Amino acid sequence: MGAAYPIIEHFYDVVVVGAGGAGLRAALGTVEQGLRTACISKVYPTRSHTVAAQGGISAALGNMGPDDWRFHMYDTVKGSDWLGDQDAIEYMCREAIPAVLELERYGVPFSRTADGKIYQRAFGGMTTNYGEGQAQRTCAAADVTGHAILHTLYQQSLKHSADFFIEYIVLDLVMHDGACRGVLAWCLDDGSVHLFRGQQVILATGGYGRCYFSCTSAHTVTGDGNAMALRAGLALQDMEFIQFHPTGIYGAGCLITEGARGEGGYLTNSLGERFMPNYAPHAKDLASRDVVSRAITLEINAGRGLGPKKDYVHLHLEHLPAEVIHQRLPGIAETSRIFAGVDVTKQPIPVLPTVHYNMGGVPTNYKAEVVTLRRGDPDYVVPGLMAIGETACVSVHGANRLGSNSLLDLVVFGRAAALRCGELLSPGQAHAPLPADACDAALARFDRIRHGAGELSAAEVRAAMQTTMQNRAAVFRTEETLRLGVAEIADIADSFSRVKLSDQSLIWNTELVETLELDNLLGQAHVAIAAAANRQESRGGHARDDYPRRDDENWLKHTLTWRSDNQVSIDYRPVHLYTLTNDVAAIPPKERVY
Ligand SMILES: Cc1cc2nc3c(=O)[nH]c(=O)nc-3n(C[C@H](O)[C@H](O)[C@H](O)COP(=O)(O)OP(=O)(O)OC[C@H]3O[C@@H](n4cnc5c(N)ncnc54)[C@H](O)[C@@H]3O)c2cc1C
Repeated sequence: MGAAYPIIEHFYDVVVVGAGGAGLRAALGTVEQGLRTACISKVYPTRSHTVAAQGGISAALGNMGPDDWRFHMYDTVKGSDWLGDQDAIEYMCREAIPAVLELERYGVPFSRTADGKIYQRAFGGMTTNYGEGQAQRTCAAADVTGHAILHTLYQQSLKHSADFFIEYIVLDLVMHDGACRGVLAWCLDDGSVHLFRGQQVILATGGYGRCYFSCTSAHTVTGDGNAMALRAGLALQDMEFIQFHPTGIYGAGCLITEGARGEGGYLTNSLGERFMPNYAPHAKDLASRDVVSRAITLEINAGRGLGPKKDYVHLHLEHLPAEVIHQRLPGIAETSRIFAGVDVTKQPIPVLPTVHYNMGGVPTNYKAEVVTLRRGDPDYVVPGLMAIGETACVSVHGANRLGSNSLLDLVVFGRAAALRCGELLSPGQAHAPLPADACDAALARFDRIRHGAGELSAAEVRAAMQTTMQNRAAVFRTEETLRLGVAEIADIADSFSRVKLSDQSLIWNTELVETLELDNLLGQAHVAIAAAANRQESRGGHARDDYPRRDDENWLKHTLTWRSDNQVSIDYRPVHLYTLTNDVAAIPPKERVY
């Protein structure tokens, strides 16, 4: 195989796959410590999906009123519906404060209060005093916070001389003796194939929203890192937990940030009634996302949706002063004009729940090291491999992520990964030898897909997968829909071997890129829907009509899924219901009330 694809070899201390917020923060942190670092990205770094993040990044800075990282931790545990690992949550909420101040020093142009502090807005599920008041905890750069963070981190990484390999598609992990030794990548520009050796490989490839037909994520969000982990025989964790954002623009799926409700926006049904107080008397429109998404779906199912098909609700901003919209939500005004034809200062926006975030992914500990279940040890560290950002399941979001906790997760665990690399590695260490056939399986897969010669197009198979996921693994799920969905996805995944490519070239072959991404998505759709069918309870983003209650006795555990030969196998890891330090007590499971 190597003869057909000559391999160019590179040696680095650290290889980061992905240049979104997580990948860039890790790359910056490793080069700052003198480690030679390659950062590989299939898109130009500032086009990574992080650029689209709008609302902001959480940290209990207390700039707009009293706040405490312990309140933030309480909210995050509760928001996670107790599936989050509390040691990791403690770490994230405590580190949030220095992490955001560090971003400010790096040059992120945050919006400001009148006295020059970082502006903070209200977000769903963020409270003061353990649920009593509404916190203003989400630090924002207008409604383009991800854009501001990503550009700043890219500039800093360039300043510190990380080596960027841009428009390289990473195909697979290179594993040997149970350890990760590097990655194999294909360069779009000249068609060459590269082996990047690294003492540590850090996966930062983002989520897998594109398994679904309607989602807020970019077309590139295909969970490639998760799929590589599955192919390497590793497990993915909690893949059934998929977050629907309550306010995607009807028809287009584009996101209207929760910050819009944080600034005073509210939802109404076809009767013109504000319905959220009926579902969450206290938090109302700022209840956490799973709660608001279910409420909208129930209103629509009860016939109180708007429009000819009665299948959306209204989000109102027109009561807000125009200058608040122009200063704090300019991007929302523009998106609504382009994608809904609405002037938000005068008319409501038609919205409905849309797939937004993947709580599941590659399981890690709070140091970002990938873990797996091995010989009874649920925290066995896979040597040489780390995961951060949306691709990882660390797990700080548990069954449901709170808005503005993802940008935070990126920078806190990007930094944690870099610090761990600093502890484990010294610059320029010799690389362990690799057998000559180490890349053969990965190259064989690439070659097979490139020369696919069946009767189906990748677009047909993708549409079938996205429609099945949309219909069978939706906001509300039942045994029957999920069982049908698992069988359908297995069939669709099977049909992938009949996909034909019309273009076999190696240079900028976007058909081949999309087909490789489709293969990646299929594996994740399969484990996600199988895990959803398996979990017989409702928790966070996973709502079962037939098991409407959370069942801590049987299901307070992380799901692990493996996939081989188009079969999914399932096991579990315990949730960390303990804290990292004695500075704060663990928060025992209780009913979620909003
Ligand atoms: C519209 C939108 C708005 C959001 N708003 C907020 C918000 O306000 N606050 C908040 O906290 N969260 C928000 N989120 C969530 C948050 O933005 C994402 O979870 C986060 O940005 C993911 O970052 P990441 O670094 O993990 O991955 P990404 O930013 O998705 O980057 C992935 C990187 O991996 C690279 N990559 C992937 N596959 C390969 C491959 N095979 N080979 C080489 N490179 C590869 C890509 O090129 C890219 O550089 C929002 C999400 C969306 C979609």
